[in-house]
Amino acid sequence: ATPAATMVGTATGARNGVLFKGGDVLETVRDIDTVVFDKTGTLTEGAMELTDVEVVGPAADGGREKAATDGGALEERPELTDEFVLELAASAESGSEHPLAEAIVEGARDRGVDFADADEFENVPGQGVRATTEHGEVLVGNRKLLRDNGVDTDPAEERMDALEREGKTAMLVALADGRPGEADRSPDQEFRLVGVVADADTVKESAKRAVGDLRERGLDVWMITGDNERTARAVAEQVGIDPDDVRAEVLPEEKAAAVEDIEADGSRAMMVGDGVNDAPALATATVGCAIGSGTDVAIEAADVTLLRDDPADVLKAIRISEASLSKIK
Ligand code: ADP
Ligand code: MG
Repeated sequence: ATPAATMVGTATGARNGVLFKGGDVLETVRDIDTVVFDKTGTLTEGAMELTDVEVVGPAADGGREKAATDGGALEERPELTDEFVLELAASAESGSEHPLAEAIVEGARDRGVDFADADEFENVPGQGVRATTEHGEVLVGNRKLLRDNGVDTDPAEERMDALEREGKTAMLVALADGRPGEADRSPDQEFRLVGVVADADTVKESAKRAVGDLRERGLDVWMITGDNERTARAVAEQVGIDPDDVRAEVLPEEKAAAVEDIEADGSRAMMVGDGVNDAPALATATVGCAIGSGTDVAIEAADVTLLRDDPADVLKAIRISEASLSKIK
């Protein structure tokens, strides 16, 4: 494009809250035929709220007795109630900045549940947290995190399934068998499933229209998320993305490969995301597009930034790109 056309396009973009990183980008955007949306914070508000807390697992009925006869230390702890499950989860998540964690901590405060900050805390990316609390070692996270730590997640499956079908992110809570104050972090800690907590996010008001308009123009629309399959499909359905065009349970380091995979048939994709997790995928896609309120890392990796955080501005970016190019012909 001529410098003049680039200047006009860039300026029109800026006026509309669409920042293009240079003239090349302005030209490339017009050619995309596929849009890949990250779910959390991109199609949804990313403002999680705690919605459910429940005792689940072998300990839920008669478990305390069993624990005691097993020589376990549950009798030393507060009674296994929903409130205790929330106390454990909030304590474990107190050191995490993940939106799911912040919602749990906030939810505990709102409900007047007292909890102490974790003594030690380990983030397991794409899975959850492992923390040392005053009640012992605690795990909060998805099925993989618990299974990798030897916990049978089957007793919670029915509840998890129901919550996920509502589009909520359900998380499992497990407590190790060590005595309070004696929590050690040896790898052979035996964890016991104690409950389930769930956070819900709200789909952005314009997400459905944005997806509809893009599809109407003949673009393929995908969703990629680290969230589980059922939650992802429930959200996809809400915004009008085909459930077959959803890639769920994608680990942070796998997001870029997932974009490559979508582009493997020669399609030219714009990846739209907000998180640190999304940065490699933004850099890999034909066009990377960051949500303005997203992390600096995402904005840095992206070619386009949507200042209004509005997924409908993806179409605006395409229109501006087309307009600025038709002017020079
Ligand atoms: P997304 O791609 O949607 O931003 P992440 O890759 O950060 O999601 O996380 C994927 C999944 O791992 C979450 O849906 C959740 O089940 C689990 N998870 C991640 N971080 C946490 C946490 N701090 N506490 C509990 N669960 C977590
Ligand atoms: Mg995100």
